[in-house]
Order: sequence, then structure tokens, then C-alpha cells
Amino acid sequence: MNQIQEMYAQMGIGRAVYDYGNAVLEKLGERFREIDEIAEYNQLKVVNAMQECQVSEACLLGTTGYGYNDLGRDTLEAVYAKIFRTEDALVRPQITCGTHALALALMSNLRPGDELLSPVGKPYDTLEEVIGIRPSKGSLAEYGITYRQVDLLEDGSFDYETIRKSIGEKTRLATIQRSKGYQTRPSFSVEQIGRLIAFLKEIKPDIICMVDNCYGEFVEIHEPGDVGADMVVGSLIKNPGGGLAPIGGYIAGKKECVENAAYRLTSPGLGKEVGASLGILKDFYQGLFLAPTVTASALKGAIFAANLYERLGYPVIPNGSESRHDIIQAVTFGSAEAVTAFCRGIQAAAPVDSHVTPEAWDMPGYDAPVIMAAGAFVAGSSIELSADAPIKPPYAVYFQGGLTWPHAKSGILKSLQFLADRKLVDESRLKM
Ligand SMILES: *Cc1c(COP(=O)(O)O)cnc(C)c1O
Repeated sequence: MNQIQEMYAQMGIGRAVYDYGNAVLEKLGERFREIDEIAEYNQLKVVNAMQECQVSEACLLGTTGYGYNDLGRDTLEAVYAKIFRTEDALVRPQITCGTHALALALMSNLRPGDELLSPVGKPYDTLEEVIGIRPSKGSLAEYGITYRQVDLLEDGSFDYETIRKSIGEKTRLATIQRSKGYQTRPSFSVEQIGRLIAFLKEIKPDIICMVDNCYGEFVEIHEPGDVGADMVVGSLIKNPGGGLAPIGGYIAGKKECVENAAYRLTSPGLGKEVGASLGILKDFYQGLFLAPTVTASALKGAIFAANLYERLGYPVIPNGSESRHDIIQAVTFGSAEAVTAFCRGIQAAAPVDSHVTPEAWDMPGYDAPVIMAAGAFVAGSSIELSADAPIKPPYAVYFQGGLTWPHAKSGILKSLQFLADRKLVDESRLKM
């Protein structure tokens, strides 16, 4: 359709980039069909849960004050428990982000003298301070909870023998991060996580297995709760919020684990009974309803970017043909100029703040300046089209999100146009 190409031209994307993008896309039909099928299954799963829990118009309203008998909140938690195949769930705007949800799950289910085990290597950056790997006020370490880590083997697989030796009397909880986050290890499939959980439980049946599910929700038809996880934890400004949730986190899991978390979030004695939902529930429900197709859009964007940049010779993780277990895509550009141009292209394609030019800055907690592109409706939301890159070798950019596939596509084309305009990509290479 000529009109599409004209519209792209009007938005600064030239013919060479447009044609190259479409040529890349032509080969992705089968991959996209599989993603649509997963989205279809997950859409049905979500609607089915909402119907079985009898979500009603009254559920979309909120409470104020203490929030006793908040029908919408309690029903939403039942819906989450059904979707994640767990006994119970805590889904709250009072859980401020993913890190908070994970910290809450850990702090409420561990006691002084217990040991936390990560059998999958180093956890997400922000958890280092929660655990006390980097000394921090209020960390688990300050409360006398020790930590042990078993790194992955060279090929990214689980080091079962060392894990076996690392489980002792004190080992109370194992934390398993599904997504690679900003590391270069592979992300784990739900099936792999299931095998690991089975192994851990064989050695110690009462060990609590918690899965950090951030960026993984609805990427597959199964969730960690289907394969025996005792707690499944994530952020609502990533996949399950569907781009509409403006805040929030969730912990789905065994009744006792969720209860412990609720008593810690509010207060002993109060637990899940309090916590007004204010006016936020409609966005939580509608975002969850949209989450399967939003996640599919983000996945298509990630696969498109992988193939587009892989063909130009840049290392990409995951590569263009690998199966996906989260929505993050890394592309290594090898120069500060190129990662900067990429991020500026993504920003220029945003619906909000497209006129802003991102600059690298010294963010707290990082050892190099970081540049971020985030023209999002919800601040910091990474289910929306977004990218960030530390300005240091190997000069890799981490890219994720896209509420709709056409927007993800246009953002990726814009990033390539920015690289071409600055002569960082040779236009002659865009010929297929
Ligand atoms: C994003 C993320 C977190 C932390 O979530 P925040 O909402 O940024 O605090 C934890 N683990 C993983 C794997 C993540 O991707």
C-alpha cells in the first residue's frame, strides 16, 4: 500500500530503510503466526479467568480509606491466582514496582537464620541491595539471612551437582529469575524452570521456590505456577499491566506464602483485608485483558529488531531465530555513537516526548553513563517501546516493549534511519 510508505516518508523514514524492513519482515511470517497463536491461547485464558471469577461492573470501582471489603481488589486477586495457577495472589497498587514485589516476597517468607539460594547465578541488579550482596540499609543480610549463589555452567545450563551440594539445613527459599534481564545468559523457558524446581524439591521438599517472572508473563502458554513454583512475582508496568496499569506489582503463589507477604505489606493482623484500591482497578483489569496481545506485539518487535540488525552484521541476543522466553532484545553496536543514535531513534518514534533528545547521564547504581529512550504514557514503563544502553564496551543496547506491533515496527525502522542518517550504517548494505 503506497499510502503507508508515504506516511513513513512524512515521518522521516526513507525508502531504503522501509524496503529493507519489509524484506526482513517477509521471512518472519511463520514466527509471527506462532506468536499470534500463543496470544490467542493466553487471551482465552485471561477472559476465562475473568468469567469464572464473575468479574462484574462493580469490580471496576474502587474503595478509599482502609479498603475493607474491596470487591474489585479481591476478585482481581482471584483472577491472577487462576491465570498463574496458584492458590492465591496479592495484586496491589501499594506494591510500587517489581523490585518491591520481589523484596516483599523474600522478606516476608524468610526468617533470621534462613538461607536464600540463587541456583541461576547473579540476580537482577536491584536485588543485590535487597539481599545485601552489596551492603545496603534494610537488606536481608542485616536481618541475619544469608545468601548463597550457584552460577550457571559455561553453556548457560544449571549446575545441578553444585546446586545439590549447596542445599543445606538452613536453605529455605530458592529464587529463580526467568528473564536474563541485562545479562548475556539465556532466559529460561517455563519447562526448564519446572525441571529445576522438581530437582530442588527432590532434594528438599519444603524449599520455597520463587520465580522472578518480570518480562516473562504471557510469552509462553504456561507460567511458572504451572510447573510447581510456590511464588510467581512481577511488575504491573511490564507485561501483565498491558500498558494501562500506572503502578503496581503482584505475588501469586501458595496461600501461606501470599499471606506472609500480605502481613508484611500492610501489617500483622491486617494482611489482605486492607489496602484501598482507589480508582485504579479498571486499568488493572483492562490492562490484564490486553496483556496477551500487548506482549505479542512486543515480542514481534524484538524478533523484527533481532533479524533486522543481525543481517547488518551486529551481534544480537537472542539471535534472529531462537525461541523466546522474555521480551528483551540486546543488540551490540560497538560504538557510543551508534548506541546513542539507536536510542534517539527510538525516542523520536514515541507518542510522548518524541521531540526530546536523550543524553547519557550518571545514573545512581551504575558504573558508566546510561542513555535511555522512554517516550512512554506511564513513566518508566518498559512494556512500552523503550531502550537503554550503558555507554561502555561492548556498547550494547537493550531494547524492549511496544504496545502495538505497528508502533514497535516504526520505532525500529526509525532507529535504523537514525543510524543511516549519521552514516553509522552504510545505506548500500540495506539492499537485500
Ligand atoms: C524489571 C525487573 C526487575 C525489577 O523491577 P522494577 O519494576 O524495575 O523494580 C526485577 N527482575 C527482572 C528480571 C526485571 O526485568
